[in-house]
Amino acid sequence: MSHLHYDHAGGMIHALGDKTELSFPDAEYVINRGEWETAFSSTSSSYHTDIFEFLQRNAQLKFIEGDGNLDETIAFEFTGAHCPNHQVFLLTEGSSKVFFWRRCFA
Ligand SMILES: [Zn+2]
Repeated sequence: MSHLHYDHAGGMIHALGDKTELSFPDAEYVINRGEWETAFSSTSSSYHTDIFEFLQRNAQLKFIEGDGNLDETIAFEFTGAHCPNHQVFLLTEGSSKVFFWRRCFA
């Protein structure tokens, strides 16, 4: 996750009838540790802690900080742009590279 504002984090879970489910049950949710802490301590309406509490109980979470690599094909970089703990990802497959970043357009 680049960050946890609702327009991004809202898709991590979904309602199915009267149940809430993970949208990607087999995924590892990779989240910046500072962004996770901000999500719980902020008074901003952009953070919906009910989503994060559900994730904490039901999802496989991986917290990262700074810059680094998840594996040989996925790198991440802390930007601190759009929000104080924003991060971006660079995906590499062979000679192809994809830069993944998101911000809110609200
Ligand atoms: Zn945002």
